[in-house]
Amino acid sequence: MALNIVLFGPPGAGKGTQSERLIQKYGLIHLSTGDIFRANMKEETELGILAKSFISKGHLVPDEVTINMLKEEVLKHPESKGFIFDGFPRTTVQAVALDEFLATMNSSIKVMLALEVEENELRERLMKRALVSGRSDDADEKIIQNRINVYKNETAPVKTFYEKQSKFISIDGIGTIDEISNRIYGAIEKN
Ligand code: AMP
Repeated sequence: MALNIVLFGPPGAGKGTQSERLIQKYGLIHLSTGDIFRANMKEETELGILAKSFISKGHLVPDEVTINMLKEEVLKHPESKGFIFDGFPRTTVQAVALDEFLATMNSSIKVMLALEVEENELRERLMKRALVSGRSDDADEKIIQNRINVYKNETAPVKTFYEKQSKFISIDGIGTIDEISNRIYGAIEKN
């Protein structure tokens, strides 16, 4: 059975950093919808131009566009031992679509790991990250606040979706990178 993990958390929770650790440790394929959108924006593809109009405001890219893109990425890796879904699903519609899609491949999500970090800490981390990330959506306080609000209103309910399937695990996202990685490994190995 593939080790498919949803790595969940608000913007600035450390999903990208922890994904890098998980890729190395478990040999998984990392799919970050944010990274894929940014690559398309850089190449100025049709998808990138569309995504930019939402991302630059701190809004979500529409579900249909995001889901189709994600499916295409998964299908590029038929031999994968499993995927880390980073930044996806961000709405309940996306979560349902992911379950249905994985089921067509006789696969499923094993666990959702939710990095929990309180709001003030997130704001501070994102402002700091802006200095090195080059991401315009990190550099503007209003856009950061939009992203946090979108997380609370549209994305946080996705936890309930996985809770109902007994797949939800909360991870304290405060501490050193190593401490948080160890919490994540512990959670994966217990399940
Ligand atoms: P991230 O790198 O995960 O913080 O994502 C950056 C931005 O890309 C988000 O603020 C959204 O505008 C967009 N985005 C990333 N993933 C998704 C998704 N699953 N659904 C909709 N929009 C997304």
